[in-house]
Amino acid sequence: MNSPVVAVENATKTYPGGVHALHAVSLTVHAGELVAVVGPSGSGKSTLLQLMGTLDSPTSGRVRIHGHDVALLPDRRLAAVRARWVGFVFQQFHLTAHLSALDNVATGLLYHGCSPRRRRILARTALERVGLGHRLEHRPYQLSGGERQRVAIARAVVGEPALLLADEPTGNLDSAAGAGVLQLLAGLRGDGAAVVVITHDRDVAAALPRRVEIRDGRVIA
Ligand code: ADP
Ligand code: MG
Repeated sequence: MNSPVVAVENATKTYPGGVHALHAVSLTVHAGELVAVVGPSGSGKSTLLQLMGTLDSPTSGRVRIHGHDVALLPDRRLAAVRARWVGFVFQQFHLTAHLSALDNVATGLLYHGCSPRRRRILARTALERVGLGHRLEHRPYQLSGGERQRVAIARAVVGEPALLLADEPTGNLDSAAGAGVLQLLAGLRGDGAAVVVITHDRDVAAALPRRVEIRDGRVIA
């Protein structure tokens, strides 16, 4: 098989102050995979996501993106890798309040070197894909929770990242909207993206084809 999109190898994370958030965690995700990382609150899920997304670095061990050891990349390369290869979706959506849905999604292309006009065209296509072609000019406060998360997903995938990381993406949604968001995330695999969904919700995890269980900073299954 070709090299994994992301490989976490024997990673340990100790935060300043001495919290051991991860102990020797290894996890490999290939293109086209949809993985749930499931565990109770405080088990280290978000920490693992931050390592996979190159937002933070392990205290020991290694993280590779497409085979490249992240720790060996100069800062500028790393920023470029993150911007182009990784998309993030968070529980709190993190949309910019004063921007329209279209402009929020277009910000996902700021580091792709395309023109503002092209950004808007691609953003529109991404919003149509998530079923929001009729909400292009709405501001976040004019959208439902499920719609906001769809905008955030469109922003995360508009640049066609190899890796999509979602941290409790359904945590602020009712079950119907949550199911819609999961279905949308599952559909993205068709493009060959690796999708990792972090959740404390066993029902959400049960709906996904591969599950990794984490407890007290260790992968247990
Ligand atoms: P989860 O996402 O599974 O709820 P986290 O990865 O957020 O778990 O946290 C794992 C552990 O690390 C928790 O005990 C948490 O309090 C601690 N932790 C998380 N982030 C930090 C940080 N920036 N500084 C210190 N401790 C942290
Ligand atoms: Mg968390």
